[in-house]
Amino acid sequence: MDQGRIDVLIAGGGPGGCAAAMTLRAHAPGLSVVLAEASEYAGPRIGETLSPAAGRVLDHLGVWEAFRAQGHREAYATAAAWGSPVPYDNDFLFAARGTGWHLDRAAFDALLAREAEARGVTVLRGARVRDARREDGGWRVALAPGGELRARFLVDATGARASLARRCGARSRAVDRLAGFVRFFRDGGGSDPRTLVEAFADGWWYTAPLPGGGRVAACMTDSDLGRGLGAAEPDGWERLLASAPRVGDALHGAGADGSVVVRAARSRRLEPAAGEGWLAVGDAASTFDPLSSQGVLKALRSGTFAAYAAGDLLAKGDPAGMERYHSFVADEFAGYLRIRARYYAEESRWPERPFWRRRRTPVPA
Ligand SMILES: Cc1cc2nc3c(=O)[nH]c(=O)nc-3n(C[C@H](O)[C@H](O)[C@H](O)COP(=O)(O)OP(=O)(O)OC[C@H]3O[C@@H](n4cnc5c(N)ncnc54)[C@H](O)[C@@H]3O)c2cc1C
Repeated sequence: MDQGRIDVLIAGGGPGGCAAAMTLRAHAPGLSVVLAEASEYAGPRIGETLSPAAGRVLDHLGVWEAFRAQGHREAYATAAAWGSPVPYDNDFLFAARGTGWHLDRAAFDALLAREAEARGVTVLRGARVRDARREDGGWRVALAPGGELRARFLVDATGARASLARRCGARSRAVDRLAGFVRFFRDGGGSDPRTLVEAFADGWWYTAPLPGGGRVAACMTDSDLGRGLGAAEPDGWERLLASAPRVGDALHGAGADGSVVVRAARSRRLEPAAGEGWLAVGDAASTFDPLSSQGVLKALRSGTFAAYAAGDLLAKGDPAGMERYHSFVADEFAGYLRIRARYYAEESRWPERPFWRRRRTPVPA
């Protein structure tokens, strides 16, 4: 794609990028917005339990009805074998009471991109932003497989890699090395609508039913420990499953769909989250432990706040929102770390194991 200078280029069409795109069009309709998404939303996506508070944000974005029409599976609570081998209902661990959802993430993300498009955003699917350079007070952006465009402002919504913000000199500060060793199952959805979380000596497991009758299950441990345990290989993963009998029961008779997908799930924050002509949203700005089931909600929220900041700067010349946004990301992360410490402290059965010892080490502010 080659075109004249646009106002905002958003790299990444996950929940964070799509929320930013939709809010920009609502808040500053005079601005031209292009969203470049590397994928075609075809493959399965990870991060499927949506917390109850997301309903309000989806409503604010004007996509509530379309979301409901997609028929995502309602979820009422999390059953957690945490601190004890017997699971207890824990609502949504970090979150408010109420009805949440088990999402078909690919369908959910694709819906948000279509809704952005319907609001006047140009969505380029299958377009990866491979480079962005400062030029004439804006950006020259190179796309893969081909094309180039110029933009006044850049939003990094590329997920936890924050690939563009890091090019701008921002640094990722991680407090752990958590990774998810994830498998999808064709069936095994069952009738229990809860997410199940089960701690073990080297981390914890979760499993959740998916819309359409399938199921997802993941072994969450530090990347170095997971490699040592063989969690990235189907055989090793199956062996480890013996450490989580409740999750094993939920998967009984279910057929694995493909191999083990390994995803970084470190708790980390970008420093800074905004700079001259750019800001980062969603996982690019900060990443929460999946134990929280807050990642998608946080991405929708930060995309929304970021769009107000960028819109004020570009449409009114008011830079105050950019500083506020950076502080918002930092404060939100500090609050999250306090809750994270509390939850990990509730599990004390394996105090000498490296995974749990690391979680007891205080994280500097
Ligand atoms: C194992 C695991 C389990 C999780 N479980 C949950 C859960 O149950 N509930 C929950 O709320 N959260 C969960 N999360 C977290 C959640 O998935 C993320 O917080 C959420 O997806 C963040 O949204 P985002 O839009 O910031 O980034 P992403 O969803 O990562 O989207 C980034 C988008 O950018 C695109 N992209 C990347 N690079 C480029 C580029 N250079 N150019 C163009 N496009 C690009 C990608 O294709 C992708 O579409 C989980 C995470 C992990 C690792």
